[in-house]
Amino acid sequence: MELKRTVKFEADRDPEFARWISHTVGGERIRHCLQCGLCSGSCPLSLYMDYTPRRLMHLSREGFKEEVLSSSSIWLCTACYACMVECPKKINITHLMYALKQRAIEERFYPKRFPIPVMAQQFSRMVRGSGRITESWLIVRVFLRTAIWRLLGMSGLGLRLFRAGRMTLKPEKIERRAEIISMLDSVAATRKELAL
Ligand code: SF4
Ligand code: SF4
Repeated sequence: MELKRTVKFEADRDPEFARWISHTVGGERIRHCLQCGLCSGSCPLSLYMDYTPRRLMHLSREGFKEEVLSSSSIWLCTACYACMVECPKKINITHLMYALKQRAIEERFYPKRFPIPVMAQQFSRMVRGSGRITESWLIVRVFLRTAIWRLLGMSGLGLRLFRAGRMTLKPEKIERRAEIISMLDSVAATRKELAL
């Protein structure tokens, strides 16, 4: 992935976004960032990112919302926590990556058929609906929305997994799903409160 090196202007900033990132869970210390680059140096995926973690932290705290939310970096992050371990200012970079993913989904900033955010959305819908996911249906839902032709190409593998008993078509559900929904609702309400 080629690094983006474009000139940024004051007029491109979104002060609301800068305020949101420093108030979101994990963002409390973002203004302490020294721009030392230890996070980028320790990130195993930074080589493939359009903005390295260091640059993403800088763009986020300055309010360059569009660049940050449309960046591939947030979707490549595997939440390995290497950056957080190295950060001399103890900035919660991994959690910020999660927050940015969530906001990108809410504001539909990601490319339409990009599989990772679609997977995140479908995963969360399944958990809300049944209390847990059924892998086979999750895969079908994601491929139907992103790359239907690949689903056909994987049908042989799917069949072998079904025969071996490693996958099932029977939707899995838990009891007392209302409790999961209430937990998810209170998390969403807390996030909203923190964003105010
Ligand atoms: S390691 Fe921490 S202080 Fe250094 S650039 Fe990354 S986020 Fe900033
Ligand atoms: S948590 Fe994400 S950003 Fe941090 S080092 Fe791991 S992959 Fe890179």
